[in-house]
Amino acid sequence: MPDKVPAEAAATSFLPYGRQEIGDADIKAVVEALVSGWLTTGPRVAEFEQAFAAHCGAAEGVAVNSGTAALHCAMRALGIGPGDEVIAPAITFAASANAALYEGATPVFADVEPDTLLIDPASVADKITARTRAIVAVDYGGQPADYDALREMARERGIALIADACHSPGATYKGRPVGTLGDISCFSFHPVKHMTTCEGGMAVTDDAEMAAHMRRFRNHGIDSDHRSREASGAHAYDMGELGYNYRLPDVQCALGLAQLGRLSGWVAARQKIAALYAAALASLAEILPLKTHGDRTNAHHLYVVKLAGHVDRDRVFARLRAEGIGANVHYAPVYLHSYYRARGYAPGLAPVAEEASRRILTLPMFPAMTAADVERVTEALTRATA
Ligand SMILES: *Cc1c(COP(=O)(O)O)cnc(C)c1O
Repeated sequence: MPDKVPAEAAATSFLPYGRQEIGDADIKAVVEALVSGWLTTGPRVAEFEQAFAAHCGAAEGVAVNSGTAALHCAMRALGIGPGDEVIAPAITFAASANAALYEGATPVFADVEPDTLLIDPASVADKITARTRAIVAVDYGGQPADYDALREMARERGIALIADACHSPGATYKGRPVGTLGDISCFSFHPVKHMTTCEGGMAVTDDAEMAAHMRRFRNHGIDSDHRSREASGAHAYDMGELGYNYRLPDVQCALGLAQLGRLSGWVAARQKIAALYAAALASLAEILPLKTHGDRTNAHHLYVVKLAGHVDRDRVFARLRAEGIGANVHYAPVYLHSYYRARGYAPGLAPVAEEASRRILTLPMFPAMTAADVERVTEALTRATA
């Protein structure tokens, strides 16, 4: 992607809902890694893990090849297994719940708050049973969930708290950074997220034992890697459990390290764009931006608006797309996917989520967006909802 699009082209070009930034420093870092001799697990893996964990205020980071793999690692490290129930919000990317299925556990869907679409602690309380072993809090759109309420419930019942922070790196909850709010926090470096390693993810935690477990789990369940064996001069290794190959290559960690230095600036740019949207949409009664609670900051992965009940969302979506604006919908309730329906999940489990999912629209949001882009979107939206 070129850094700057000429003004004439910008007016007619497709405006996606999200877009990564790749600059000269990223290209240089990747090329350096490529010619360094380390392609997969090399020195940049630990370097990236430490730098990203430090950025989050956490002690340990475990780099993996997707956010989904990070969630799976978290499930394994927390000992989630068959017979266990894991509570996740109805409105999220399917991976938040699928990770429980990978370990043979049963996802249970909590409803969401109507004006933030964050997991509703009151609904979580309703869904806790004697089998509940973990809660997956999702920081929907970029805003941290209500971790104090969830933490209190989890502590009382001896339940683990996983933060699916794929939307929220750089956000804070009551002054505490995302990455310190769950027992394990999971991030994604997919290109549409705040920073990218092409594909990639990270699980961060303060628990050294869980971090060590996740490092084995991402490497087939083996207790050492080829680098540590080379260093020690030993050839023997042991596979103590069935793990996976979830390793993030050195070359991609080099990209992650180069991107990490710009993360705070990108989050600030997103917050500025959100403020422009909020100002432009304030006078439109048909279009309600989601709220951000006063005790949190929002990293704005997605800019989501809720349309008034009488507006035909799919018609507005189609009209925006016809104007070259990459509107989207995040998300339909996870349990309405056919895979879940075939396993007994049915409409009615999370009524607030079901109603909201018919009214939401994701507008373009990425750091390089200009004030003119925001104006183009809001004007198109005004026409489409008139
Ligand atoms: C992106 C995302 C994931 C999965 O990340 P991948 O890197 O695509 O595997 C999980 N949960 C949420 C909420 C996400 O947005």
